[in-house]
Amino acid sequence: MTEADPGGGPGRKAYRTQSIMVTFEAGRCRHAAECVHGLPEVFDTTKRPWIQPERASADRLAEVVRRCPSGALRYERVDGGGENPDRPDTVTAVPAGG
Ligand code: SF4
Repeated sequence: MTEADPGGGPGRKAYRTQSIMVTFEAGRCRHAAECVHGLPEVFDTTKRPWIQPERASADRLAEVVRRCPSGALRYERVDGGGENPDRPDTVTAVPAGG
């Protein structure tokens, strides 16, 4: 069976809502679990499909996808909103401990 390739490389699968398309390439995943920890209601490896993008807002989803260190996860806004790649990195002050 042949699935439509969303582009971006072999083995990349797409998970789409009305607002955002998240794509995942298993071959690049380093299992850092940033996604699973960031949005467990969306990224749940015990579910099929394991990415359920409709369970979070597109903005939250985009934020967590950007944390993926390997490039396995990517997103594309399909509603034209929220894309702001030039946003400066937010630095969160962490109190010095021990
Ligand atoms: S954050 Fe990226 S590298 Fe880490 S488990 Fe999720 S998809 Fe894989």
